[in-house]
Amino acid sequence: MVKSLIALKPFVHSPKEKKPKYCSTCGSLATQEAYFDVGDRVTMIEKYCDVCSKKIAYRT
Ligand SMILES: [Zn+2]
Repeated sequence: MVKSLIALKPFVHSPKEKKPKYCSTCGSLATQEAYFDVGDRVTMIEKYCDVCSKKIAYRT
């Protein structure tokens, strides 16, 4: 599956959310939200920490 990074936005935890969100790569607390275009007009959102968000941003 080919996915391309559209945008990277700072992710702020909502006080209403009971469970914190974690980085999908390393499991640290998420601080960034990455929007990917995965084709067929589908957008996928994945959460990353600061370190991993920089890695995905430069991978493409
Ligand atoms: Zn991470």
